[in-house]
Amino acid sequence: MDLPERTVETALVEQVTSDGTRNLLYSLSARKLLSMAPDEWGHIRDRASEHRLDPVRGLSIRCLQCGEPLFIGTRRRGARNLPLFSHHANAKAPCLWNTGQRLSPDQLRALQYDGHQESELHARLCRVLESAAKADPRYIGSAINNYRKPETHGRGRYPDVLVQWSHRSETAFEVQLSRTQQPEVAGREIHYGAEGVSLIWVLHGLDLDADQLPQSFEDIIRRHRGNAFVMDQAALEASNELGTIVLSCHLRRNDGGFEPPKLVTLDGLTYPEHGLPFLEDRISAPLLERSKAVRRRWHKVLSRFPDGEWRRMRRVPDGLKGEVEDWKQRYGPMSTSRDDESEFFLCVLVAFALSIAAHAANPGTRVSYVTKPVPTAHLINLIMQRENLGMHQYALIIRYLIDNTRLSQVLPKSVDEHLERAFAVMEGNLCLAHEAEWAVLADVIPEVFDMRIREQMTYLGCLPDWVRPLADDPEVSELQQETP
Ligand SMILES: [Zn+2]
Repeated sequence: MDLPERTVETALVEQVTSDGTRNLLYSLSARKLLSMAPDEWGHIRDRASEHRLDPVRGLSIRCLQCGEPLFIGTRRRGARNLPLFSHHANAKAPCLWNTGQRLSPDQLRALQYDGHQESELHARLCRVLESAAKADPRYIGSAINNYRKPETHGRGRYPDVLVQWSHRSETAFEVQLSRTQQPEVAGREIHYGAEGVSLIWVLHGLDLDADQLPQSFEDIIRRHRGNAFVMDQAALEASNELGTIVLSCHLRRNDGGFEPPKLVTLDGLTYPEHGLPFLEDRISAPLLERSKAVRRRWHKVLSRFPDGEWRRMRRVPDGLKGEVEDWKQRYGPMSTSRDDESEFFLCVLVAFALSIAAHAANPGTRVSYVTKPVPTAHLINLIMQRENLGMHQYALIIRYLIDNTRLSQVLPKSVDEHLERAFAVMEGNLCLAHEAEWAVLADVIPEVFDMRIREQMTYLGCLPDWVRPLADDPEVSELQQETP
């Protein structure tokens, strides 16, 4: 892990009243400070000095990281003096951003994740979020760490920051530094979901380039569909400039790393029916893509054989041999009693199942990898009545596939009859759910055959329409017509 460069990135500028109340006026980044005219930053420097002399005068400038007072120092660069935030020499709290402190590498590392000042940093971040919300014209009210009485039953929660808006549902912000436990992460999501409150976990102080993030961060990022919302320097700056809450969104890449952050407002997010808001869904897309990639490889090879010509060779087409071999390695021998042709039967089964799936996905299509182009019922019946294709033993698989797509209960009776006949012919010697062919189909059409993927897609709301039984869909009624 690289140690951070030790400069003060962000300061909080506050006014302190005679009773000691601190009012956060704005946050100020080091970059913004550098961009200001000398009289502008000079003014803040003056006001900070006044405050140092008399605590109820001037402006308090504190380090966002440690909460210690800062002053605006200068550094000579060519002919100019450039301003920079500095800690006072007598600062007590150890700070990642304090250049004047001698800290061992171990102390620095410890500060990154669980410094003892965490609760104060947490409180400061809450106030930063609240003040950004207050600048938004839709802001109605807010509270920090206040009990929110639930509208549904059950116990309420103490959101870190709760904001009410006009024309938008309430938003609860939970500022996550490092320690929230998984049950509480899940519990809050369920609770706020039921209450119609949008929940956003705001992260801070994490090294997204680290090899392994603390698990609590991983949990939150996954629940936000691979989006890490961070309150960092750029986000603070943009919040001030735009007059609303802006967060830095780091999108997870497929390799587990993160893309450079994008600044987002709450309006730019998608609020799904279940689960937490996101900028881009980085969980569903790879999930859907994985099975599509397998299917594309099969389509590429099989579409070279019009009318299912490859069947006549009674062997696996060249481009698919590796795939079939790989399945045998992974899932063991196939269940068929005819060992010599087991690979060919597996290939027919997969091509047949893919054809049926294509029909479920596109009502009216005549796509077939195993026959000439035909309507759905015709496709199934043609293959099921040919005993030499070995599909009788897979009648349960075909039945299961049909029943778990929108072909369910919309196909003509002849399909049921063909399947019943296959059951009868096999006298119980059917390929059963624990056998290798089912595992292969879980790879090829996980939307139907892999319960784990199916559940996850349902939860994420990305289960494709074609794998939902949909007997009333007018689009599929035409499937019921018998073809000559
Ligand atoms: Zn500090």
